[in-house]
Amino acid sequence: MMRPETPITEKLLRTTAAYVAKLRTLDIRTVGDLLRYLPRDYEDRSEERLLFDLLPGETNVSRVRIGSVASVRTARGKPMLQAVITDREGAVAQAVWFNQPHIKALLSVGSEYILAGKVALRFGRYVFQSPDIEPVGAAGIRTGRVIARYPEVDTARKHGVRLGSDWFAGKMLLVREAARHFTDPLPSAVRTEYNLMALPEAIERAHFPASQDEGRQALRRLSFDALFTLQVNALYRRERYRHEAVGHGHAIGINTQAIKDFLSRLPFTLTDGQKIVLYQCLRDMEKPFPMLRLLQGDVGSGKTAVAAALAHHVIASGRQVALLAPTEVLSTQHYETVAPLFASEERPVALLTGSTPEKERKRILSLLTRPDGIGFLIGTHALLQDDVSFANLGLVIIDEQHRFGVEQRKKLAALGYPHVLHMTATPIPRTLALTAYGDQDISSLRERPAGRTPVITRIITPERRQQAYGLIMSEVEKGHQAYVLCPLVDPSDANQAKAATAEVRTLRESSLGRYRIDCLHGRLKPAEKAATMRAFAQGELDILVATSVIEVGISVSNATVMMIEGADRFGLSQLHQLRGRVGRGQAQSYCLLCSETPSEDALRRLRVLEETQDGFRIAEEDLRLRGAGQLYGVRQSGLPDLPIGTDLDTALVEQARTAAENVLRDDPLLEQHPALRALIRDESALVLG
Ligand code: ADP
Ligand code: MG
Repeated sequence: MMRPETPITEKLLRTTAAYVAKLRTLDIRTVGDLLRYLPRDYEDRSEERLLFDLLPGETNVSRVRIGSVASVRTARGKPMLQAVITDREGAVAQAVWFNQPHIKALLSVGSEYILAGKVALRFGRYVFQSPDIEPVGAAGIRTGRVIARYPEVDTARKHGVRLGSDWFAGKMLLVREAARHFTDPLPSAVRTEYNLMALPEAIERAHFPASQDEGRQALRRLSFDALFTLQVNALYRRERYRHEAVGHGHAIGINTQAIKDFLSRLPFTLTDGQKIVLYQCLRDMEKPFPMLRLLQGDVGSGKTAVAAALAHHVIASGRQVALLAPTEVLSTQHYETVAPLFASEERPVALLTGSTPEKERKRILSLLTRPDGIGFLIGTHALLQDDVSFANLGLVIIDEQHRFGVEQRKKLAALGYPHVLHMTATPIPRTLALTAYGDQDISSLRERPAGRTPVITRIITPERRQQAYGLIMSEVEKGHQAYVLCPLVDPSDANQAKAATAEVRTLRESSLGRYRIDCLHGRLKPAEKAATMRAFAQGELDILVATSVIEVGISVSNATVMMIEGADRFGLSQLHQLRGRVGRGQAQSYCLLCSETPSEDALRRLRVLEETQDGFRIAEEDLRLRGAGQLYGVRQSGLPDLPIGTDLDTALVEQARTAAENVLRDDPLLEQHPALRALIRDESALVLG
């Protein structure tokens, strides 16, 4: 008996070793794996047409009898098979096949067949052009019904093993019977609630649907499985992590006075959005297990202000706080803005990066282990190195670091399960956030602090370049500063430095040549970068040319122009992030999107930025225009591996999330759900992966 776990063999698939090997490259080793190779769509070939009703130019399906068959040659001398066909009303038409002599053996005069293919009108007569053909009563892989279209593998290649849609369709027929032996991991309550087919039925119907609609229903159910499994995995691992963490004593009661004290140090009052997020985090930290929260919000939406208030709250409870930024420049910047707010604390704030002198580093490390030593440590990943230990770390704030690797997760456990707040300025639509960050709670800051003027955004085509330079000139004359971003090149590429230097040369030779220009790129040493950045921040440079390496988080409020070369090569969300480097002060700011040879498509995308400043809307638009895989930030962090073609439909994602939450609420260790439990991957891995 054939079952899903039955290994695929040449004999079983009636094929050769080369094909079996090819399937293995797709991770298809068992019958079940093959049945999990799903169609991407369907084609309805079930509606049969009489020859009188054929639609030229379209794919038609007809039931015909073969009148006569002749092998002829075309005008150009190519071999062609020509058959006269008739239907039950006696209408006559033709079918021709080019270069397919093997068809002849299939045709027997007087027998009935189903034909499916494009029909042309030639000299007043309908002609099927190289149609698919099957004897009536055959198993029916290709015609006479709704057929599944599979993603094809290497069919464009001339040589080697090519797996076409029809090949897959044929092989599915051979393994079809195994579909009914799939074990359904979905609890039946979930199936009933969301009106989903049982798994064996869904697999069978996905490949052999009675209608297109039925096929799509089946695919939807299978997408639901993938999303649901993902959510169960994420929530289950989070549950386990929490379970392990209980007893490490980081439940921090809300101290209203401490919050008030800190907020009174700020020169502004929090927006409602900030208050809500602050409260969400305080509530998280009251619990006996660690907070795992992602805070999304545009640059300037006030995330750091919230994080600082939380930091103070944790420090006031006698614990320590660590703030990690991805680069030295950024951690230094954080240190410079945040430290003054903590000047009155008993325990000092310190900065630790890769370029902290050894002696200073030793001093910091030793102070860190003392309960009365450092309260707040700011730095790069250097501060999670093995020789760094804390007296009592209560909160880790991670700015712009999308996801942790396994090593860092272990590190968190070793550090005593502190609360964790991730911050990102790449807002992503909720659907994707739930999918990519299913193990975290998510907060969003959508509104900006009042008093911010939107950044005026313009697309610059080559003929308007002089105007762009003119704008930069007048801004610099006003005492403001400008960024010029180089076109996107591979960050590992030496060309990066080249692009930056070339851009500097162009600018020096342009009307902007008389201003102070310098450049920043990934090939510079950290100290050089820091020096250039500092010079820009202190107003010693007018124009900073940069590659996208510095895109994250730089803040110079006197900068009012962001000019981006080759803007069409960036993702919308990425451009939006870059734009966020300006508009941070009181003055009107500008974002110039330069495009050398803009296509209609590119222009349409860039116009979204001209129209809106809402990062969430831009992300949704990006998702719509480019698909999930391309979305900046998501590609970087890696969408957890979902099978190709998984439907990321919002409703479906939400349903899968809710269903997973419900199942785990009632059965946190999945004791009642062995089939689901079997799908949990890598149990030793903690959350955040
Ligand atoms: P983010 O970290 O999201 O980029 P920040 O917290 O750094 O945002 O805030 C950006 C700027 O806005 C900072 O200069 C900060 O002082 C200011 N800011 C933050 N919150 C408010 C607020 N509620 N009202 C006015 N200004 C604010
Ligand atoms: Mg920030």
